[in-house]
Amino acid sequence: MNSQDTFDGMPTRLFTCTPTKLVTWSDCPRRYRFTYLDRKPKGAPWAHNSVGASVHNALRDWFVVEPQARTLDYAVERVEKGWINEGFRDGEQSREWRARATDMTVDYLREQDVQAEPAGIERTVSTATHGMALSGRVDRIDLRDSSDGGEELVIVDYKTGRRPLDDNDARSSLALAVYVVAASKTLRQRSRRVELHHLPSKSVAAFEHSPQTLERHLGRAEQIAGEAASATEAWNGRLSVRAEDASDGDADAIAAIDEVFPANPGMMCAWCDYRRWCPSGQDASEVLQPWDGLAQNASENGTD
Ligand code: SF4
Repeated sequence: MNSQDTFDGMPTRLFTCTPTKLVTWSDCPRRYRFTYLDRKPKGAPWAHNSVGASVHNALRDWFVVEPQARTLDYAVERVEKGWINEGFRDGEQSREWRARATDMTVDYLREQDVQAEPAGIERTVSTATHGMALSGRVDRIDLRDSSDGGEELVIVDYKTGRRPLDDNDARSSLALAVYVVAASKTLRQRSRRVELHHLPSKSVAAFEHSPQTLERHLGRAEQIAGEAASATEAWNGRLSVRAEDASDGDADAIAAIDEVFPANPGMMCAWCDYRRWCPSGQDASEVLQPWDGLAQNASENGTD
């Protein structure tokens, strides 16, 4: 790892990251720069993100109170009081989606064990390899009986987008694999199972990791972190001072920055929070309204 200079005998400083940060680099290095280095202002908030965040917050609130307080009325109250009213076309659309979000939350909780005490709710877990310090916040960590008679941690991730999810989504998620490793390390308990709880379809997509599948995911994470760390070092060392020239249209400065942080334009740029700063993304995608993710397939657009 070369995120900074090191000397023989000195410990190497780890590249600090989250799964989201790694996936952002992997998807588009330019977006990574806008997000973590340049810190450009984002575009308007998306309504589908408001729905997702409101439901997540209500589920969190429901699980953190005593079991006797976990009523369906309380769930309704949490969605309604915590409703995030951003990105909707108008008040009518916001109210319509608040009702839908309430229904999906109540329908989901109706099937949950009121007495169950999760091992973690929105718990931050972390782990380190020789090159990275990885951390992330897990929606829910259950402690369940395992098939061999012991107990194990199960990683639960809530999803509210429209696209149905399958076991392949659970298997291929870098974030969920990282959470398995980090939860196991943080809570000192075995973990291997990941679950995507898709509230709109009331379905659960799941996968049980093996040491080999976790190793593959962590290897990929290491590789992405190595690239992102090198680019970050270049930014801090020589590129950030050229950002102003690049903003003023200096072709050399733009080329130097793009060489390290290339754009990866495609249709998904329509959903990028930094599209307005990115000519390549504008050329590659259509303009969307902040509420368009409600009608389209929001889960493919980074929506939880
Ligand atoms: S608009 Fe597309 S190419 Fe531009 S930063 Fe966003 S994801 Fe990358």
